[in-house]
Amino acid sequence: MSLQSVSPEETRAVGERLGALLEAGDVLLLSGELGAGKTTFVQGLARGLNYEGSVSSKSFVIMGEYAGRLRLYHADLYRLEDAEQVWELGLEEISREGVLVVEWPDRAPDVLPEQHLKVVFTVISEVARELVLEPHGARAEATAAAMSEVMKG
Ligand code: ADP
Ligand code: MG
Repeated sequence: MSLQSVSPEETRAVGERLGALLEAGDVLLLSGELGAGKTTFVQGLARGLNYEGSVSSKSFVIMGEYAGRLRLYHADLYRLEDAEQVWELGLEEISREGVLVVEWPDRAPDVLPEQHLKVVFTVISEVARELVLEPHGARAEATAAAMSEVMKG
């Protein structure tokens, strides 16, 4: 499934719709170059989980935590030097009780949950982005299908 967004607010709105569909244990991996809109999308996810506060870029902190309808754990692995550090974060465990969203998952390919919904962001122009949903596992497939329905209506 592929979507186009032509503004940061539209990317947030897509994230918000996905956030509303999420359940405890869901894992989202966001890939795409710097400035592609991953963090902007997480702001929408948080909104869709009824989190009222702000979500910022995690340049120096690897993990942010937002308590909405579910707890949203936001990891940014851009500055990760060693995939071992990801084990230390215990992502697999914390994702069971909340929702885990990871930017730059390619920095730690073998230590992230196998069952996940991947969202690939591509910069089309200064304001346009393409978002492609790639489900891995039954739960992610169900989420992507539900998202496809929501985006039609
Ligand atoms: P990333 O986390 O992928 O590095 P950010 O979400 O932090 O990216 O930044 C995206 C940047 O691109 C922001 O400055 C945002 O205003 C801009 N932008 C322009 N158009 C879009 C769009 N359609 N969706 C998301 N961000 C956009
Ligand atoms: Mg980011």
